[in-house]
Amino acid sequence: MSHKPRYFITGGAGFIGSHLVDRLADTSEVTVYDNLSSGRVDFIRRHLDAGRVRLIQADLLEPDRLQAAMKGNDAVFHLAANSEARTGLENTRFDLEQGTVATGNVLEAMRRNGIKKIVYASSSTVYGETPVKPTAEDYGPLQPISLYGASKLAGEGLISAFCHSFDMQGWIFRFANVIGARSTHGVVFDFINKLEKNHGELEILGDGTQEKPYLHVADCVAGFLYGFQHAGDRLNLFNLGVASSTRVSTIARILTEEMGLREVAFKFTGGKRGWPGDVPQVRYDTSKMEKLGWQPEYTSDEAVRRGIKDILGKPG
Ligand code: NAD
Repeated sequence: MSHKPRYFITGGAGFIGSHLVDRLADTSEVTVYDNLSSGRVDFIRRHLDAGRVRLIQADLLEPDRLQAAMKGNDAVFHLAANSEARTGLENTRFDLEQGTVATGNVLEAMRRNGIKKIVYASSSTVYGETPVKPTAEDYGPLQPISLYGASKLAGEGLISAFCHSFDMQGWIFRFANVIGARSTHGVVFDFINKLEKNHGELEILGDGTQEKPYLHVADCVAGFLYGFQHAGDRLNLFNLGVASSTRVSTIARILTEEMGLREVAFKFTGGKRGWPGDVPQVRYDTSKMEKLGWQPEYTSDEAVRRGIKDILGKPG
């Protein structure tokens, strides 16, 4: 390739997307396509001001604009989606539209533009509640228990079908819970909001024993760029996470420590899961990425502490 690679990043103004933009802006021509529903211009402002990145503020549900905007790119990083798993409990069309239909629109725009490579942000939620832990990529049948997870799985299915039908190549990464600066949702974000309102008490959904792998956003972006560069099958599927895990009550403890709050009463709402559709116990088999030659820098507990410090703006 004689020119700088041209990358089209859906959701590039979001939490993870903006960290990807940080990594690619110097070495590639980057176009961010984002409707700014949860993303923020500020997250990528320095690249926009420096003229290194182009932002197109538009929606994935506008197929004509999407197709026109995508023209001339070498690969698409598709990160835009509803990222809040609980939304589906109130609005049952949301994930269908923002996940499944949106991903179909991305793939069709790629097909029409002759763009052959897609990198997709999937999620551990595609597995549902598995009896086998740690769960590896070849586990099946996949039976998600949230509408969010169902839409992620549908996206994987569409990518597989487009890759096989139209000679395209796909990289699917099932992210664990990602944590770090600029996150606008998730457990730490929720806890900080609650503690800012009330220093004395923290409501914790469930009984506090939910335990999941947490991946620092720097590891997340490094991991999927590594996978994109080093795996060359038609369809490349990876768990992207850590083998370790962190209890939600541990997150609460680390957060209150880092916020310097000593007398916080933890109030558990009770029950094994935080909300219907929440998978309370997740363990990731990360050996496939390891065999490819990549490992995260942070364990789950380290990622939680580092991520909390990043969010609070505290140095190392
Ligand atoms: P985010 O909400 O910060 O990012 C999503 C971005 O997509 C936002 O900038 C938003 O404005 C944009 N967007 C949403 N709908 C759009 C639409 N219809 N058209 C155009 N832009 C749209 O969330 P994130 O945490 O950065 O997540 C990025 C991706 O990674 C998502 O697909 C999410 O499902 C996936 N993921 C995230 C995690 C996590 O823990 N954060 C875990 C697993 C998977």
